[in-house]
Amino acid sequence: MSVTSEFAFELRVCQWAERAWEPTDESTVLVARQLGTKYRRWDTVIIECDPDGLRERAEFGAEAFDSDLLHVLQHAPSDWTYYRDALPDPGYPWRYVRESIHEAADRDALDTRKRSNRIEIRRKRPYPDWLRRIVAIENKPDLTASAARDLAPQLERDVALSLADEVWVATAATDERVEPILLADLPAAAGVLTVDPESGTAEALWQPRSLSVDDPGTRILDRPDDDHSAARFEYVEQDWKRERRLALAERAYERGWRAYADTMRPDCRHFQLRADETGAYPYCAAKECVPTAAECRGACPSYEPEPPVWRSMGWPLDGGPGKEIKRLLARRRRRQRPGLSE
Ligand code: SF4
Repeated sequence: MSVTSEFAFELRVCQWAERAWEPTDESTVLVARQLGTKYRRWDTVIIECDPDGLRERAEFGAEAFDSDLLHVLQHAPSDWTYYRDALPDPGYPWRYVRESIHEAADRDALDTRKRSNRIEIRRKRPYPDWLRRIVAIENKPDLTASAARDLAPQLERDVALSLADEVWVATAATDERVEPILLADLPAAAGVLTVDPESGTAEALWQPRSLSVDDPGTRILDRPDDDHSAARFEYVEQDWKRERRLALAERAYERGWRAYADTMRPDCRHFQLRADETGAYPYCAAKECVPTAAECRGACPSYEPEPPVWRSMGWPLDGGPGKEIKRLLARRRRRQRPGLSE
């Protein structure tokens, strides 16, 4: 794959991470892209999972649970109990909890019944402790001195908040070495990874520090440019971090990094899924490159719908190549999530 955009580079990093990331404690690795919180979105996210826990998580299905649903599932009792006696005060109105209870029951994740006009709940199975570590990667294929300076405040925020266990910057390997002066602009706690886009290999140039995810964090709200004014901070509790981390891992579980096909146009006759020794990637035969998600859409001037004959008699697969590409990517995503049924 020739890497012509940040998006193409991001796919390379995801492929490498899925294939070659070395987790601690023999964890199982899940990779996702473009995930984070309302305040911050990372390009690539690696989730290190407890292998048994991940298999048990699969019993709850492929769809993610948000924090409200997780609140219910994590506290659901093994015996029938009135929901308000079973669940800790959520800190928001109980009617939202009732909505989550019904949604969990609809998704077959919780048993419910009514006794004397009260909703009682009982867990179907314990929600497992499957998340071990979160590794966040910011992709900057072209890490120039000014890009490093622009990136530094973001990384400092990541380190101060410590929502991820490790924070990295991934840059494209070139024949020239990354200048030490450039690394000096980045916080020492963040790692630097050089990725060779052609071979799909990567090398750690600077190891990151493990961040204190179990301690309270600090959200940097405002950092003045001059050295004289004080920065503004906000204290972030451990519970908030624990909740966000699990919700983020849930979204990574559902989406993975191959969800790009959902926002691109695999039903365009020029859209192809190509493969090289490092993995499969989207390719536009009209533009002869990896199209970005922003350009590969219905408004693309070169978009042409796949001919109807591809979807019927002339094509051996149900729904035509566009649908088959989506199915193929979904199958590959599922392969990384042991225990999920087809
Ligand atoms: S022509 Fe446009 S819509 Fe079609 S595959 Fe290429 S980028 Fe996507």
